[in-house]
Amino acid sequence: KKPDPIMSVDNIVRNFGGITAVDVDHLEVQRGIITALIGPNGAGKTTFFNLITGFDRPTSAASRFGRNEKSARWSFEGKSLANTSASKVSRAGMVRTFQLTKALSRMTVMDNMMLGARDQTGENLFLSWLKPSWAAQEREIEEKAKALLDRFRLLEKKDDYAGSLSGGQRKLLEMARALMTDPTMIMLDEPMAGVNPALTQSLLGHIQALRDEGMTVLFVEHDMHMVRHISDWVVVMAEGKVVAEGDANTVMADPAVIDAYLGAH
Ligand code: ATP
Repeated sequence: KKPDPIMSVDNIVRNFGGITAVDVDHLEVQRGIITALIGPNGAGKTTFFNLITGFDRPTSAASRFGRNEKSARWSFEGKSLANTSASKVSRAGMVRTFQLTKALSRMTVMDNMMLGARDQTGENLFLSWLKPSWAAQEREIEEKAKALLDRFRLLEKKDDYAGSLSGGQRKLLEMARALMTDPTMIMLDEPMAGVNPALTQSLLGHIQALRDEGMTVLFVEHDMHMVRHISDWVVVMAEGKVVAEGDANTVMADPAVIDAYLGAH
């Protein structure tokens, strides 16, 4: 299949004191497929997610080399996202979920969905409710939220506190909430963590359904069963760098990948 990158990243570096968490020369994410980002603990996967979604900023080349060498570049749908705020990134069509679910546990499931209708940071949420246009939009947004909750089998929980949901249901809520912004790409940070086996198949099915509808999916995961089962492409990170990519079987047989995992223990 001809490459058709939806996202392209060059020279992105993030240092924390003496630690280089991310040092990626080049990475492309292809449109309309499911890509897994794997790697041992501390490989830099979450930091990479934070950087490209505007929740963190790369360390500048100038501060590393004392002059402006190759500076970080990353683009989504052909548009640069460098120095773009998290809220603008989500409005550009790239949304993410978090490793530790951010579903606000003292809010109802429905209120969480309404929060998702705003940008990912919830910026100006309460101010925007005062605007006249909001009231008109609210009904429409509520209908959309209900349809998504129905799709993820959460509609009957809509008035329950998010905190009362099981781990797997929270993951589904996170996905449903992310979809409120009609993204073209969804990034899932450890979607299987804390999900009981009863919901595993259903969660995998939902992710595949998004792909089948044309959405691009990028996920970070330690669960190799999931990685093998649903990934169209696998990218392996170790010590901040991309060390291999390919289909799941090729990548998992790659000596560099086996080394990266063994070296981490
Ligand atoms: P895991 O699979 O365990 O979630 P990961 O691949 O997501 O790991 P990161 O969480 O991105 O890895 O961490 C990469 C490195 O950066 C680690 O050495 C970590 O300790 C360090 N790091 C991450 N965030 C910070 C921070 N805010 N301050 C200092 N160091 C950090």
